Amino acid sequence: MIPSILPTYNRAPLSFVKGEGSWLIEADGRRFLDLGAGIAVNAMGHAHPALVEALTTQAQALWHTSNLYHIPAQEALADALVEATFADTVFFTNSGTESCELAVKMVRKFFHDAGSPERTEIIAFEASFHGRSSAGIAAAGSEKMTKGFGPLLPGFKHVAWGDHDALHAAIDKNTAAILIEPVQGEGGIRPLPDQCLKGLRDLCDEHGILLVLDEVQCGVGRTGRLFAHEWAGVDPDIMMVAKGIGGGFPLGAVLATERAARGMVAGTHGSTYGGNPLGCAVGYAVMQHVTAPEFLEEVRRKSGLLRQKLEGLVAAHPDIFEDVRGSGLMLGLICKATNTDVVQAGYDALVVTVPAADNVVRLLPPLTISDDEIAEAVKRLDHAATQLEGAA
Ligand SMILES: *Cc1c(COP(=O)(O)O)cnc(C)c1O
Repeated sequence: MIPSILPTYNRAPLSFVKGEGSWLIEADGRRFLDLGAGIAVNAMGHAHPALVEALTTQAQALWHTSNLYHIPAQEALADALVEATFADTVFFTNSGTESCELAVKMVRKFFHDAGSPERTEIIAFEASFHGRSSAGIAAAGSEKMTKGFGPLLPGFKHVAWGDHDALHAAIDKNTAAILIEPVQGEGGIRPLPDQCLKGLRDLCDEHGILLVLDEVQCGVGRTGRLFAHEWAGVDPDIMMVAKGIGGGFPLGAVLATERAARGMVAGTHGSTYGGNPLGCAVGYAVMQHVTAPEFLEEVRRKSGLLRQKLEGLVAAHPDIFEDVRGSGLMLGLICKATNTDVVQAGYDALVVTVPAADNVVRLLPPLTISDDEIAEAVKRLDHAATQLEGAA
């Protein structure tokens, strides 16, 4: 019999009832160190007092009106994002995949209005992930996500990650945009080298193509800069955001330059809940913390600490791990053992991690994790690896 919840997830036998900072707690009191943060969502940890305060204050004042009216919390958050980034304008969504939908629409509208309606094709990359909506699965293109769901939204071409020749060959008179994650998340924590992102920007400029970045997972302080592309010193035309921006409240956004967004006039897009007062109040509190230079400096310092300890872990368990890669507090352990076995052994050692493609175990802790918690987390991973070695 089908369960009451549509069984599209293979859930771990864990069930948390409370969160405190970097900790997740089960009903029986077992405390897990959280190196997953709900897949890079709980950027400020669980139940951060400033976020709880922002949410409850807004909840007592007003939950929902509609985008038929001005929403002060939305305006404040949009101003903060415009102030802190390349963007001139922001549209709020409730998720990453909705941000993908708008990014695709914005690209198409741009060329339609520019008198080049034939330019509809977006070049994306193999092993990428852009969400589960029709545009999202067509953009990522992997058979795992698209099989059985055709006909797919047309207008996407896929090239292998790092295949420069294939990328150049894919560009033609119909190319509208290049869409890429600066650090692939689901694909296995694969950072795009800075010079490659610079190269993509140049390529786009040369051909009049829009550069669309998906920073849903790697954005909002995760890599130690507010957005990952800042490391390369280049700006996109359009950027998808979600996950960390809401700190656990469903919130997403599309950020764009005035030029890229110019076709999106009244009536061209909308969302009932997008930019609702609750989400924007929390997002504003997240932004206030994450944009502080000391905060990002701390993320970078803690990244160095975690990475160093993980390198020690890899060296101590050469049969379980192969290497560490990633950026900031978005790190991946490339495994020799099966990644899902490592994640399971982690659960037994009371540490939560997330598997990714390419046999990687993802470490995406709250950005607020402390040095002691980092040490304890790696100790637990070490214990998990020792248990796995014993089992082999
Ligand atoms: C999670 C994710 C998405 C989809 O976000 P949802 O909120 O699940 O729709 C899109 N792109 C990237 C890079 C992601 O990590």
